[in-house]
Amino acid sequence: MELWYSEKNTETCKFSIKVKEQIYSEQTPFQKIAFFESYDFGRFFTLDGLMMVNEKDEFIYHDMIVHVPMAVNPDIKKVLVIGGGDGGTVRELTRYDHIESIDFVEIDERVVELCKKYLPQTSSSFDDKRVKHNYVDGIKFIKGRKNEYDLILVDSTDPIGPGEGLFTTDFYTDCYNALNENGILINQHESPYFPNYAKEMKKAHRKLKSIFDVCEVYQFHMPTYASGHWLFGFASKGLHPTKDHKGEKWEALGLKTKYYNSDLHQGAFALPTYVLEQLNEE
Ligand code: SAM
Repeated sequence: MELWYSEKNTETCKFSIKVKEQIYSEQTPFQKIAFFESYDFGRFFTLDGLMMVNEKDEFIYHDMIVHVPMAVNPDIKKVLVIGGGDGGTVRELTRYDHIESIDFVEIDERVVELCKKYLPQTSSSFDDKRVKHNYVDGIKFIKGRKNEYDLILVDSTDPIGPGEGLFTTDFYTDCYNALNENGILINQHESPYFPNYAKEMKKAHRKLKSIFDVCEVYQFHMPTYASGHWLFGFASKGLHPTKDHKGEKWEALGLKTKYYNSDLHQGAFALPTYVLEQLNEE
């Protein structure tokens, strides 16, 4: 018997992966977690039936969420990560010796425990001394904080379930306040292709633009996310992602990356016309 994992992109379009087996599944108080072993993407896990991370393409997402802001402000020392229970974002951050502290805030401790067991590829750096674990809702954690962080990375699920509040004007305003004067916010920005995802992309952009002085969007190719075309938002109080890009300084660190490089950094902010039109509609 053949086993397939399928995910609905729309009511009439599905993405399917042939799997060897389902390894584990569990309903937590927050979401349903499931781990699978596949042929083309290695091991992967889903939350509420949506692909989160797989061994084959996770490097793309984690390179792009971390190295883009790190190459704009190479003096980043204090970082807040909201979500990201698989550990891939924390793993990439810990490669920077000059980062002093990483506040890691994940609502669901079971995601971390299970990724430590089933996905060592991404969860390998949780024990780094600079990582402070906080198992609480990111929305509550950030309330009332002022001028604390150089960088906030929102590595969240989509705006449904526990991740919904991480796409609100209130939350983005709290992020603005929690950042220092050179602070950068990188957030999940969904996808421009299918209308149901594009709607969320436009909403997020409109909200961020009303709060931050600099508000840009960048793209990357994520084979296992809906349509494969995915976006992050880059918002800051002043630093611009391409004009303030310090490529040479970043290259001098000697970090080896499989997806990210300095040319790609500049290119990722050059968006297709249909994406620009949708973002400017707002
Ligand atoms: N990179 C993947 C993606 O975008 O599909 C996955 C990111 S990671 C697995 C998303 C994490 O965000 C989940 O582990 C989830 O528990 C966490 N999360 C969702 N809502 C949250 C909230 N309000 N506060 C903190 N963490 C949250």
